[in-house]
Amino acid sequence: MSVSKEPNFAYTIVPSPEHDYAGHPENAGRFQHFDLLEKLAGEQHLLEVQSSPASMDVVSSVHHPSYLEALQEVVGKGPAYVDYAPTYVTPASYEAAFLSAGGTLNVLDAVLLGQAQGGFALVRPPGHHATATRAMGFCLLNNIAIAARHAQERGFQRVMIVDIDVHHGNGTQEILENDPDILYLSTHQSGIYPGTGMLHDTGTEEGENSVVNIPLPARAGDEVFENVLRRVVHPLANRFSPDVMLVSAGFDAHWRDPLAGLQLTSAGYYQIATMLAQIVQEHCPGKVFVVLEGGYDPKAIVYSAMAIIQGLRLATLPSDPMGSAPYPEPDTDALIDTVLSLHNMR
Ligand SMILES: [Zn+2]
Repeated sequence: MSVSKEPNFAYTIVPSPEHDYAGHPENAGRFQHFDLLEKLAGEQHLLEVQSSPASMDVVSSVHHPSYLEALQEVVGKGPAYVDYAPTYVTPASYEAAFLSAGGTLNVLDAVLLGQAQGGFALVRPPGHHATATRAMGFCLLNNIAIAARHAQERGFQRVMIVDIDVHHGNGTQEILENDPDILYLSTHQSGIYPGTGMLHDTGTEEGENSVVNIPLPARAGDEVFENVLRRVVHPLANRFSPDVMLVSAGFDAHWRDPLAGLQLTSAGYYQIATMLAQIVQEHCPGKVFVVLEGGYDPKAIVYSAMAIIQGLRLATLPSDPMGSAPYPEPDTDALIDTVLSLHNMR
């Protein structure tokens, strides 16, 4: 008797080859090793979701119409820089950003509608720095914020967002922090771009304690993240009890990343994913969705992305040709204690 293996994890790839700027770290070459990911997807029978542009309606749930008009106008003048990060646009960037957001929503829908038990939108341009009114930090449309609003629209009211990019997702926080039904938790390297995400920044009055910022010292890596997941993320999830878990995955927290100084390995990303899978299993089985944010070492991106996919599925970790991180990790016990105190968890 043959048993057909049902697809249990959805993904899409939006490479946006024409949203590209020579010499810029957020370039189309970031996806150059994605043949490895496609091979894994084939072997593991993952569900490939087609990408289509996001509708103006859903994008407007997050971004002001005046910003979208300005963006459409400025891309016509591209290639050009539109902020100091620097964030660039080319004539293809408006469509690329809508396709990136649309691919995000199509994978999210596969998860929310039960066609898959989890999903990963591997899209660019990324999103978590973009605010309601401006492009920022290589980001044009805030994919994860749009995803959060879309999930709520579909009846998944309590949304937990875990942002493990090496940078703070200032845009995501700013857009969603007034909503008590959204818990935004970010780990990021302290003291780097964009300068937001301070420890004591726990949200606004309306959304009190709906923001959890964990700024980590340089060289924090797999062990520190294991502690953060076990001591902070899991207990906070238990208190919040999400209907859906959304993850902003940046692979610029990998030790090989050229822009920053944390030290995750692909095995560390795998461990994070297995721990998130456990939380999801307890609170919202099958409702976990990941979107790609930063990450500027093409090998670190593909191996870490595969590690996240396999970790969420509790499947085997692919081999890691890059190996372990070069430096010892700092002690972050006191930092974690402070986070717990700030959020009345101890
Ligand atoms: Zn980043």
